Amino acid sequence: MAVAHDVLVVGGGGAGLRAAIAVAEADPRLSVAIVSKVYPMRSHTVSAEGGAAAVAGGDDSLDEHAYDTVSGSDWLCDQDAVEAFVGEAPRELLRLEHQGCPWSRTPDGHIAVRAFGGMRKKRTWFAADKTGFHMLHTLFQTTLSYQDIVRYDEWFVTSLLVDNGRVGGVVAIELATGRIETIIAKAVIMCTGGCGRVYPFTTNANIKTGDGMALAYRAGAPLKDMEFPQYHPTGLPFTGILITEAARAEGGWLLNKDGYRYLQDYDLGRPEPGPVLRSMELGPRDRLSQAFVHEVAKGRTTDTPYGPIVHLDLRHLGADVIDAKLPFVRELCARYEHIDPVRELIPVRPVIHYMMGGIHTDLDGAAGLDGLYAAGEAACVNINGANRLGSNSLPELLVFGARAGRAAAAFAASAGDAESQAVHAQAKDERHRLEKWLSRQGEGPDRIADLRTEMQETMENGAGIYRDEGSLAKAANELQRLRERFSDAAIDDRSRVFNTELVATLELSFMLDVAESIVTCALRRAESRGAHQRTDFPARDDERFLAHSLAHREPDGTCRVAYLPVTITRWPPSERVYGR
Ligand SMILES: Cc1cc2nc3c(=O)[nH]c(=O)nc-3n(C[C@H](O)[C@H](O)[C@H](O)COP(=O)(O)OP(=O)(O)OC[C@H]3O[C@@H](n4cnc5c(N)ncnc54)[C@H](O)[C@@H]3O)c2cc1C
Repeated sequence: MAVAHDVLVVGGGGAGLRAAIAVAEADPRLSVAIVSKVYPMRSHTVSAEGGAAAVAGGDDSLDEHAYDTVSGSDWLCDQDAVEAFVGEAPRELLRLEHQGCPWSRTPDGHIAVRAFGGMRKKRTWFAADKTGFHMLHTLFQTTLSYQDIVRYDEWFVTSLLVDNGRVGGVVAIELATGRIETIIAKAVIMCTGGCGRVYPFTTNANIKTGDGMALAYRAGAPLKDMEFPQYHPTGLPFTGILITEAARAEGGWLLNKDGYRYLQDYDLGRPEPGPVLRSMELGPRDRLSQAFVHEVAKGRTTDTPYGPIVHLDLRHLGADVIDAKLPFVRELCARYEHIDPVRELIPVRPVIHYMMGGIHTDLDGAAGLDGLYAAGEAACVNINGANRLGSNSLPELLVFGARAGRAAAAFAASAGDAESQAVHAQAKDERHRLEKWLSRQGEGPDRIADLRTEMQETMENGAGIYRDEGSLAKAANELQRLRERFSDAAIDDRSRVFNTELVATLELSFMLDVAESIVTCALRRAESRGAHQRTDFPARDDERFLAHSLAHREPDGTCRVAYLPVTITRWPPSERVYGR
């Protein structure tokens, strides 16, 4: 017996909830369900701190938001997508306001906006430094007002069912019981978030393991621009917990071990007094993370048991500003570093934060298979190109979550039955594969956790802030060996109830696919652009690589890379200039 819905949303984060609401609004006759491996309010969106960018009036304009996004992306975004994004983002944030999102305000009652990295105007809306929490809460409560949205909380999707290029549903495990279920659906929207856990040191929650990217890739949908994972310049050492860019937006400084604001040496501006927007600390994330690596090479960072660090200085902001605008930063510092940023320096270092690449989609979320859609961090539309600007992701998941929901609803309303013999046969095979994991005796000595650690180290060493052909080729070989060892591994826990070892095993298999696509695309892109810096090809090469990479999975499991032209509408490629 299988259950069936018209539209199935995989993921209960910001993108998934927004998509489900859009389906319910577009066509109340459709049956829509959300399946999520964690309770929706535990999705990673909840931890977003700094804010959501959208033009809020004043002296700002849609064109300026678009231009900042395009140049921030190192010209690799699609400009038609960016224009749709900046145009619809204000409406989406206002909609949340009407649904109860408590945006911070100016004393006269207007929406308050703050500066953010790479944005030349103040346009980031925020709810103190707990923006994601308030946004997700608002979206979740709104879904509750639609009685017809069915939820499968704590169900883990293991495979996407596809018959002859047409999506038919998914197989999922109900984690509380271990029951394996087929969920038939005419349209599936992947909103499964990013894949930061492919690396060892990340701001990303444990659940961010690239599941949806791998599910789509295995089913025949290509992944786009996977060589561009983003490092954020300010993570707490050891835990990787994020110190939001809002800390620098409010005027924080980055200091090396000599107490020197080292960013002035990296073409990001001078430490002049003046408006915060001209502060070099508000350069884009790729440039700031790269500057850190150079400071390490110059011996100007401080060594700690958790690697070299620099310091973030908020002391000059004073307790009142910190408590009003950055209360969570103060709380995180106290709890995880036992320091008070009002009086002490915060140790920080670059940390993997976000994936610019993802499931290749068009502007309405369509992902290359009939009935498959994607939105949010799992997808690549693409507005982020080679480097996402902070605070563009939250409005992105609203704008394109809504678009994907509407498109999936229209598809499902006119599509025929999704059920077929082939779909049921695939579901049966998947059930056998999962049962086998629970009964197999592994031949190899490897534990899942050890393989995961080795994969993460491989990625950091081979495909980190700087890469070259040698490091990437070595990583590709090591990943191949890890895959072989994974296929011989076994798990100890054979229970059905919340079998976290089985979940970790399936997540590792997804991450191995995602890691392979990152390394393969990075090897092929013989240039430096945004977050992809090749020391053997230090210049941007628009002639050969002003193009998206598309990673296709071949029948033998290998990754083939093709290229797709970038859409340029109004802003021809030029140099990225900051601080001048
Ligand atoms: C610490 C932190 C701070 C951030 N701050 C900001 C910020 O201030 N501004 C900004 O714009 N961006 C910020 N970002 C980025 C932004 O928050 C994320 O890109 C965005 O929230 C992702 O939303 P999503 O809906 O795509 O995915 P998520 O919120 O990650 O949700 C993914 C969902 O997919 C489900 N799922 C995944 N795999 C499976 C599976 N196999 N089966 C079933 N369900 C599955 C999960 O249960 C979850 O519900 C931040 C990110 C981090 C990590």
